[in-house]
Amino acid sequence: CNAELMARRHASIARGIGNAHPVFAAKALNSEIWDVEGKRYIDFCAGIAVVNTGHCHPRVVEAVVAQAPLFTHTCFQVVAYESYVALAERICRLAPGPHPKKAFFMSTGAEAVENAIKLARAYTGRSAIIAFNGAFHGRTMYSLALTGKVEPYKTGFGPFPGEIYHAAYPSAVHGISVDDAIASIEKLLKNDVEAARVAAVFVEPVQGEGGYIPAPPEFLRRLRALCDQHGMLLVADEIQTGVARTGKMFAMEHSGVVPDLITMAKGLGGGMPISAVVGRADVMDHRAPGAFGSTYAGSPLACAAALAVLDVVEQEQLCARSAEIGERLRSTFHDLAKKHACIGDVRGLGAMTAVEFFHGGDASRPAPEIANALKAEALKRGLLLLTCGNNGNVLRVMTPLTIPFDVLEEGLAIIGSVIDDL
Ligand code: PLP
Repeated sequence: CNAELMARRHASIARGIGNAHPVFAAKALNSEIWDVEGKRYIDFCAGIAVVNTGHCHPRVVEAVVAQAPLFTHTCFQVVAYESYVALAERICRLAPGPHPKKAFFMSTGAEAVENAIKLARAYTGRSAIIAFNGAFHGRTMYSLALTGKVEPYKTGFGPFPGEIYHAAYPSAVHGISVDDAIASIEKLLKNDVEAARVAAVFVEPVQGEGGYIPAPPEFLRRLRALCDQHGMLLVADEIQTGVARTGKMFAMEHSGVVPDLITMAKGLGGGMPISAVVGRADVMDHRAPGAFGSTYAGSPLACAAALAVLDVVEQEQLCARSAEIGERLRSTFHDLAKKHACIGDVRGLGAMTAVEFFHGGDASRPAPEIANALKAEALKRGLLLLTCGNNGNVLRVMTPLTIPFDVLEEGLAIIGSVIDDL
């Protein structure tokens, strides 16, 4: 049972591995998970925006099952296979911008970020990187250095690689305008680091762990102009926003801004570990063979899954579905906000949607207690939720994009009833 497994977990798993819900999965299908006691949950987490095509989509399962008996590992850099190339061709076609593109694969999001940093440094011959307050780019040392939030990610792990600078990220509800955010970068370039030393600016088009905050298109356009002015690369971290999560294949497409490099992961493998760096061929090709790679990166099973995921995204029109899910979520949350003063902000892009809780609706008084109570009570009522944000006071919703609308409504009704009862 869950309680027994939790006791074993506490005894054998290091404490630093977090624990959002005290339940153990037995099986999952599309937007539902059943625990080891047979209890059903509606899944509004999607494995942190990973199973965009739903748990165990038959096409994805079929692709993995078909590949497994052929070969599960050769290491692409030792004996190559077509699926890796086909996936790269496809991602290069999908990524925004008319310029020639190339790609390579890794296994985790943090590794993709790590490699994008290496590419940017090698290509520009510069060493400094600008990222944003509230950013999350992963838990390896370099990606962690770019990560803005200190607790719980960074404490005790320093010193971090140097020459990383953090600027303000625009957020209307937190009182940071586009002008403020751009001015904060300009201030860094004036006082802290010469522009000629900055290799790249890393930006999440919708800040994920930092609170599901969409960057206004105007901000991304001005960021692009600033990068062009100073010869800095613009790297879009689309690890959480990519693969139809925001209603477009890549969130950057909403602004029309073309980044030099994109990192992606999560939704790409439909649950199989795979990440990618894709972007300008001249940047991607800059270093000699052997400079990049990893034993397991772009494994045959993960490539097979990712190709099936991209088929499903296209055939089931998941970009349009993502936009519709987002509209339904935000419309329900706006209705709830009329009744409950603690809902201080409703925001999102496509199916990447969030509600921020404040005491009495006052943005200077974040209310993580409310977000946590909602998450705990929803679990009892059969709904899996996650929080985010620098104060942990943001409820984020990231359902599978294949969720049936009646299941979506059932989950939303649970959120409504819990907030009514809080
Ligand atoms: N970048 C962003 C925007 C993310 O949301 C995440 C994970 O949440 C990462 C990077 C790190 O990815 P991973 O946990 O696969 O290393």
